[in-house]
Amino acid sequence: MHMPFLQIEKNSLIDTSTIFWISPTTFIILTMIYSEIIVLKPIKSLGQNFLRDENILHKIVESLDIQSGDVIVEIGSGQGALTKHLSDKLVKLIGIEVDERAVRLLRERFGEKLELIHQDVLDVNLGELAQNNGGKVRIVGNIPYYLTSEILFWLFDARIAVVDATLMVQFEVARRLVAPPKNKEYGILSIFTQFYTECEMLFKVSRNCFFPKPEVDSAVVQFKFKEQLPDCDEKLFRSIVRSTFGQRRKTMRNGLKSMGFDDSVLDRISFDFKKRPEELGVEGFLLLTSNLSKILNSKSIS
Ligand code: SAM
Repeated sequence: MHMPFLQIEKNSLIDTSTIFWISPTTFIILTMIYSEIIVLKPIKSLGQNFLRDENILHKIVESLDIQSGDVIVEIGSGQGALTKHLSDKLVKLIGIEVDERAVRLLRERFGEKLELIHQDVLDVNLGELAQNNGGKVRIVGNIPYYLTSEILFWLFDARIAVVDATLMVQFEVARRLVAPPKNKEYGILSIFTQFYTECEMLFKVSRNCFFPKPEVDSAVVQFKFKEQLPDCDEKLFRSIVRSTFGQRRKTMRNGLKSMGFDDSVLDRISFDFKKRPEELGVEGFLLLTSNLSKILNSKSIS
């Protein structure tokens, strides 16, 4: 019978039937498990794309410019790739993670160094958390992409409790967050982000830096929350932005009319209503909000 042989040296024959054969992919995965890059089987529905690039992890931590006394809240600690780098610093470190397997693993890995909140991030009362930890917190995270907008609005709503947030988001989303007016990417997220924060895209991150590899590239974005916001009716500002951008092809006049503001109201304001929402910066929306809220208030008084 023919026996398969692998010749490794001249005259040295090994019976390959005794060798455990693995494919190159399996070899890479086993190496990652051995070096603790993958411990948990990633769950797609939880957006689990684990960061496995030490250089990127260092760059994120460096960008935080951590000071002793900082209270850092990590969203989605996963199996602790970023947590490991943060836990070396003299900070109070709090992780929010929804996956029970990850919570168990993080407890084993970091013990007392990490305070863990096993909860859906959106159910965490950030204001209360900050208050219990001396005032304000700093946020960091390679966040689950399916929750990006929700997490941003969760942060905007709790902004007085937050100094800054450094988040990994999809590259395309990062472009939208920092886009200026009259730009294809400019939209609702750009306006709210630029209203509440000073926002900067720090660096792009290749999809190859994650396991499993996502279908898109990413970027790290840093949001510094403004201490003082312009005096405005925030609820009205938000609804004007949402309604007019909901129909971004329409002029501002038509967008506002569909909110119930008729011509007799709009004509009392000196404003170019022929513009489309994407032509207005935050300042333009603020001006409009302030004028409309004056009219609404005078109506409710009379
Ligand atoms: N920080 C880890 C890393 O960089 O490798 C994991 C990042 S992974 C992209 C996102 C993490 O968020 C996962 O660990 C996932 O379980 C967690 N996650 C997903 N949905 C969540 C939610 N609603 N609340 C809290 N954590 C969530």
